[in-house]
Parts: sequence; structure tokens; C-alpha cells
Amino acid sequence: MPARKYTYYDHTISLCPECLKRIDAKIVFEKEKVYMLKRCPEHGRSKVLIADDIAYYKNIRNYNKPSETPYRFNTDTHFGCPYDCGLCTDHEQHSCLTVVEITDRCNLSCPTCYAGSSPTYGRHRTLEEVKSMLDTIVENEREPDVVQISGGEPTIHPQFFEILDYAKSLPIKHLMVNTNGIRISNDFEFARRLKTYSPDFEIYLQFDSFENSVLRTMRGADLVKVRENALKNLNKLNLSTTLVVTLQKGLNDQEIGKTINFALRQKCVRGVTFQPTQVAGRLENFNTETDRITLTEVRRKILEQTDFFEADDLIPVPCNPDALVMGYALKLEGNVLPLTRYINPADLLDNSKNTIVYEQDEDLKQQMFDIFSTGISPDKASTKLHSLLCCLPFVEAPELGYDNLFRIIIMEFVDAYNFDVRSIKKSCVHIVNKDNKIIPFETMNLLYRDDKIERLKQLQKEQL
Ligand code: SF4
Ligand code: SF4
Ligand SMILES: [Zn+2]
Repeated sequence: MPARKYTYYDHTISLCPECLKRIDAKIVFEKEKVYMLKRCPEHGRSKVLIADDIAYYKNIRNYNKPSETPYRFNTDTHFGCPYDCGLCTDHEQHSCLTVVEITDRCNLSCPTCYAGSSPTYGRHRTLEEVKSMLDTIVENEREPDVVQISGGEPTIHPQFFEILDYAKSLPIKHLMVNTNGIRISNDFEFARRLKTYSPDFEIYLQFDSFENSVLRTMRGADLVKVRENALKNLNKLNLSTTLVVTLQKGLNDQEIGKTINFALRQKCVRGVTFQPTQVAGRLENFNTETDRITLTEVRRKILEQTDFFEADDLIPVPCNPDALVMGYALKLEGNVLPLTRYINPADLLDNSKNTIVYEQDEDLKQQMFDIFSTGISPDKASTKLHSLLCCLPFVEAPELGYDNLFRIIIMEFVDAYNFDVRSIKKSCVHIVNKDNKIIPFETMNLLYRDDKIERLKQLQKEQL
């Protein structure tokens, strides 16, 4: 009997990467890897690598939990996903993190910028526009978990601090500023003023590489000194910072372990977020079967390139398990104690806990601290934890604060190649746009930016 060379696992709806039409897709396993197979009647067949770890890919389904929805949806379902964003009533997760792009402008012109920002592109949003976008988030979420002020480069907005003041006056639990760090590096007084917004305030600092040659390719500029100086200022202020690493295959994926080890030594750094990106379409001869960097590959590289994480330290985040991996550790005077392996998965599936921002989650924090203290009583502690604690100098009275918690996140944003309607409905990183709609970050970049709107309208028309 003839047999397929792959094992058929699932069926979904994807997009044609050429014309962005909804098309059927199969998920198959072949030679230890997970692929998506699809066919557009007009643009033919494509095969896309979506994961290189079948066991992990299957395990994602065990992390599903009942969806939490916003208090208000902003659009109806009419044309079918993803042409109804949003959030439309069909969406299956509220905004765990909402991005507010306060300007199109930037003091860099990165070749990889999804927003096309540059010193001259577009304009700054007015204060009134930004306030109205922030109000929309609050109307949807009541007490938004995380709001991220972004751009372009938000720190060059002439009313940047007025925007922060307004955001701080709202019931937002955690506020972040997404920045390339140039302003923080050049102007200590500026950084000092940022510190006045703490607590519940965090810098999301672009940090892609230790090599100027890599930074020139990704960002079009030599930024090593800028990063160093920005971190020096942030450390001086102990201003909570997450390093954000945009990963490109073959370019900076060998620096993953080095970045984590470096981050662990920085007083102000609470964690590292890795964002795998694809260069499809921008590179000739890009092979979607072999040249993509997938979330599972990043996870494997973290395990390979660091000494302390094991497989059960880096697990799917239940609010959007396809796109997010998380791991927690305690950093203790040069020692690292991975924690995720001690967290009961059932607790993660409890809706009362937001696993994206542990600083906001007293329970989760308490749980981690409990793990630490139960380690002192051997009857409750796992042998492993107990023996780990015995190696540490201060088991008697650990003085733990947020400074000691460290978090690794892998955040994969789907593109037209690996788009899967099943997982996009769980997207929890959203953007509020200028029409006060809340749009998943991925579909925003695919279909809802100004230069895509005409195509979107055509696609919507074809659905009727
Ligand atoms: S991605 Fe979400 S908001 Fe957008 S159309 Fe699909 S279900 Fe609706
Ligand atoms: S720093 Fe960010 S916003 Fe500015 S051009 Fe680069 S990617 Fe775009
Ligand atoms: Zn097509």
C-alpha cells in the first residue's frame, strides 16, 4: 500500500503568503519536524516549517484553559478570521498586553522595522489621540494588565511625559516603555525622570547583539556603546528592565546563552524576551522549509546555550500557548535557581493568575517564595530543590525581592507563512489602532497597517 512520507496531525485555516487569502492547511509531522502544507488556487503550494520539536508541539494542547475575554468587544464577526479584527466577538483571549504606538517616527531606521519607522516617516500621534487610545484599552479591560508605550521610538515624542502621566492616572496595572535605548543612554536626567514612574513601570529595552556588525545589519547602526551606556544608567537607578532580543536565524541566535548570562548579572534586568523573526520576502532564496527560526528552535537553543535550564523550565504560557514560552528563575548573588519546574501546571491553568507579569501576581510570587521556603523543610521539598538550597550560602533567611526574580519569555509572532487561525484567536498581545480598535499584533502587521488596508478591503469583499 503506498504510504505518505509524513504523518497527518491536524487541519486548520492559514493564509496564502502572496495574496493573503484564507486557505486550507494541513499540519503534518515529517522527520521529527512539524510542517504546514497549504495550497492557494492562484499561487500554488507551500510547505512551511512551524516547529522542530514534535513532542513540545503536541504538549502545547495540554496548556489550554478557558479563554478570558475583554469586558467589551469592538467589532462583529462578519468576514471571517482574520478579516474582522477587532477584537471581534470570536476572539478567544483578552489583551494581556496592549501596545500603544504613540509615534511613527524613530531616531533609527532599522531595515527590519515592521512599522517602517524612520526620522521622517509619518507623524507623532497627538496627546488627544493617545489619550483616546488609552481610554479604549481601559474600556475593554477595565484594569489592563500591561500597557506598552511604543512607536516608532516613543521617547522622541514631544509630549512623552504627559502621555506617561496620563497613563499612570489610569487603572493600568503595569506600564512599559518599549525603546531602543538611545535617549536613556544619552541623557541620565531623562532616565532619572523615568524612574519616578516606578513601581509597576518597566523599560522594554531593545538588545539584539553584542556585535556591532550584527547591529548594523539589524538596526543600521553601531549600537553596542549605546546599549552599554543605557544599561549603566538603568542599573544606577535600578529601574526594572526587560531585554528584548529580536532573533534572526544565522545572525544572532548563537548569542542567546551569552545574553541570558549577561542579563543575569545586571541589577536592573528582570528578564529577557526573545522574539524570533523571519526575513522571508526580504531575502532572495529564502526557503520556508529550512530557513525559518521557530519558537521550538529558540527554546532548544536556550537549553543548549545555558547551564541551568532544563526542558521543564521552559513551558507554554496558557493564555496563548502556541506563541509564548516562559521560564522563571531566582537570581541569587551569582547563582541561578530555575523555578518553573516546581510550579504545578494546574496552577498555571487557573485563570486568576496572570503569568505574563509576575510582578503583578502576588499569588504566583508567593508561590515562588513558598517554593523557596519549603525547600528549608526537607519533608515538603523535592530532593532536588533541597539539595540545590543546601548549596546556597543563605538558606537560613533569604531576603528576596523582585530583584531576585528573573523571567525568560519566547514570544513568537505568526506571519503569513505560519498563520494558523486556531492559534491567532488566542493571541493576547494586541495593538490599539488610531480608530480605537484592538488588533492582534500579528494581524495588525499582516493586514491592518495603512499600506495594507486596500488589500484588506478587497479580501473582505471577496468573503461576501
Ligand atoms: S484574529 Fe481575533 S479579532 Fe481578529 S478576526 Fe480573528 S478572532 Fe476576530
Ligand atoms: S528602533 Fe524600533 S521603531 Fe525604530 S526603526 Fe528600529 S524597529 Fe523601528
Ligand atoms: Zn494566493
